[in-house]
Amino acid sequence: MSKSGTKKIQAIRGMNDLLPSDSPRWQFFEAKVRQIMQRYAFDEIRMPIVEQTALFARSIGEVTDIVEKEMYTFEDRNGDSLTLRPEGTAGCVRAAMEHGLLYNQTQRLWYQGPMFRHERPQKGRYRQFHQVGVETYGFEGPDIDAEVILLSARLWKELGLFEHVTLELNSLGSLEARAAYRDTLVAYFNEHFELLDEDSRRRLESNPLRILDSKNPAMAEMLDAAPQLLDHLDEASIEHFESLKAMLDAAGIGYVVNPRLVRGLDYYSRTVFEWTTTALGSQGTVCAGGRYDGLVEQLGGKPAPAVGFAMGIERLILLLETLDLVPDEALGKSDVYLMALDDTSTTAALTLAETLRAELPALKLQLHCGGGSFKSRMKKADKSDAGVALLLGQDEVANQTVTLKFLRDDREQQSVAQAALAATLNDLIIR
Ligand code: ATP
Ligand code: MG
Repeated sequence: MSKSGTKKIQAIRGMNDLLPSDSPRWQFFEAKVRQIMQRYAFDEIRMPIVEQTALFARSIGEVTDIVEKEMYTFEDRNGDSLTLRPEGTAGCVRAAMEHGLLYNQTQRLWYQGPMFRHERPQKGRYRQFHQVGVETYGFEGPDIDAEVILLSARLWKELGLFEHVTLELNSLGSLEARAAYRDTLVAYFNEHFELLDEDSRRRLESNPLRILDSKNPAMAEMLDAAPQLLDHLDEASIEHFESLKAMLDAAGIGYVVNPRLVRGLDYYSRTVFEWTTTALGSQGTVCAGGRYDGLVEQLGGKPAPAVGFAMGIERLILLLETLDLVPDEALGKSDVYLMALDDTSTTAALTLAETLRAELPALKLQLHCGGGSFKSRMKKADKSDAGVALLLGQDEVANQTVTLKFLRDDREQQSVAQAALAATLNDLIIR
């Protein structure tokens, strides 16, 4: 075989394996998310990972970073242009429309899953990453904006993150107000054209609001002095924004109004927000969202107001790790290691394990498999993290007992009747 034929195949850059040592943190996070969604009466929806390319081009916008340079787009065997979803909102709207979920009704939906963007991989930025998203349809007033923000805030509280994140808030106004502001802004940027970097010059025609988002320090002063969208809002948007702020005040949720927060996607109107942290370096946005009242109609549906957000799971897990906020219990140690002492007792051990699992659904029991000497069996028990080992040899099988050994505490081993074992373990282990 040629050298290239034996070269090890590796994962694609920016697409990560989630190893067994990582999963407890993810499960801890995912369980909290599921509880919160339940408590706020949001329903789960699952969409395909692949959609027609046109869906994203039409919703996210042709001149956004995502559509211009980040999408994984390919032709399938029929010659159709398909794209791995770079975000969930477009697919969620598509699914809701397709199944009549927006017909004379409101919806509060959530989803989670992988998203794909061809970006430069770095800490907190990957090519396959995961989001939890929330989308609501059919609500016009600021109460639902507040509700989705409060939902996210409660998740931070449950995770112990609330003190470590900041809510940034802005309003983009109506499409008309934004169009008028755009002219003012372009005129201002043209006056300061020599200060614009290459990226910004390119955006001057296509997406001038995005320039406000630039992190280039050389442009900071000029951007700070730029005319602000907040001063150009329409009356109804001002009222909406003021009511939202009053609701957040009443709920005790602090925020910073950031007039330069514009978000990278075309579909937003009125409220936009981000939750940011300073604990992760430059990839500091852990959750972002806002109102997108025009999108349903833009995708061919009957107009329906909409509000949603998406959070980046990798960044949140990184934050939980950095701040050491995952409790030990969540790291999932096994309770019991059950072993036959010799090969003739293997079947008896297997049967006893099944009996215990049927009787004690909350028990985490690891059955020894793979034979070995007594010493190597005990070594595996020790390595298993279990607190208790149950030993089953020929004597125990004959007497219908097991030997219970404490692996972490200095306590005498006991002989327990198999008939009383479930009750004993229940008292010992299951709190
Ligand atoms: P950024 O400015 O960081 O590129 P974005 O505006 O492109 O973010 P959104 O499309 O709003 O991000 O996605 C919502 C959240 O998803 C982000 O706040 C972030 O937490 C997460 N996210 C976005 N892109 C990535 C990525 N490539 N890798 C990991 N997480 C990501
Ligand atoms: Mg991005």
